[in-house]
Amino acid sequence: MLQVKNLSFSYNKTTILKNLNFKVKKGEHLSIIGESGSGKSTLLKVLYGEYDLDSGHILWDNTEILGPKFNLVVGYDFMKYVAQEFDLMPFITVEENIGKFLSNFYPEEKQQRTAELLEVVELTPFSKTKVKTLSGGQKQRVALARALAKQPEIILLDEPFSHIDNFKKQSLRRSLFKYLKTHHISCIVATHDKDDVLGYADRMLVLNDKQIEVNDIPEQLFKNPKTPLTASFFGEFNVINNRIVYAHQLKLVNKSNLKATVKHCYFKGHYYLIEADLNGDTVFFEHDGALKTGKEISLTMP
Ligand code: ADP
Ligand code: MG
Repeated sequence: MLQVKNLSFSYNKTTILKNLNFKVKKGEHLSIIGESGSGKSTLLKVLYGEYDLDSGHILWDNTEILGPKFNLVVGYDFMKYVAQEFDLMPFITVEENIGKFLSNFYPEEKQQRTAELLEVVELTPFSKTKVKTLSGGQKQRVALARALAKQPEIILLDEPFSHIDNFKKQSLRRSLFKYLKTHHISCIVATHDKDDVLGYADRMLVLNDKQIEVNDIPEQLFKNPKTPLTASFFGEFNVINNRIVYAHQLKLVNKSNLKATVKHCYFKGHYYLIEADLNGDTVFFEHDGALKTGKEISLTMP
């Protein structure tokens, strides 16, 4: 189990993380979310031992993770980290990159292991391709496979699908997260994409203003987002009478005392997002059909 106790960290004199406490159990999937600049990447690097803490402790079971002041070679066998900007060896093949840290002592096993990982990241047809000729998204997948090669106990992923296009993203996400669950590998995923969280994460931690704003089960946070920041992560929302109401919860009815005027209508695929004026405030709601600008409507909320 990973235990983070009273962790504080600054770059020079600028505090980025202040007094964080959380745990990740074996095989558990934790998502770290927060706005750009909130310190997600910094937190992953700190957990990996890239920097020295101002104060606090990071433990994996009974091993304390130490920064460069106390540990000359960054990294541990039980933990792998895939950075937002990954560094691969460009002049060798995909297969060679993935197998780079696997022993040559059992060539057959090495071959099998590499083939299995190529399947997980859906790169089997590219095994003999030189990395320098791959796209950004393909490189990101090679970096993921390489981090998994030696079967870590915990893996830290920084926006793991950020370079991967929508065509591949869904299936790759399923394949990777399924692999991690099946092999009881704990993972911490920094992301700003709700699709990386919903359906996969066991817990979700929101970073805001250097601290953990909330740490809970995604379903709980979705149903009861305690702050606008958390709600905004899940989608379009309104604050009406001091309550957070998602756009999909606000509905058009024949009669109510929430009277609004349609301002704009956005086609969203299986629904339309309607922007309306409610007593001088802009509100958003979802509707099956398009609505004309200027139309007077009545709304209801749960
Ligand atoms: P996120 O990943 O959530 O976007 P980061 O962890 O990258 O956030 O950055 C958090 C804050 O730390 C930002 O204000 C950023 O400018 C600052 N920062 C990041 N890396 C460094 C660094 N190496 N030196 C100084 N400041 C940094
Ligand atoms: Mg980042």
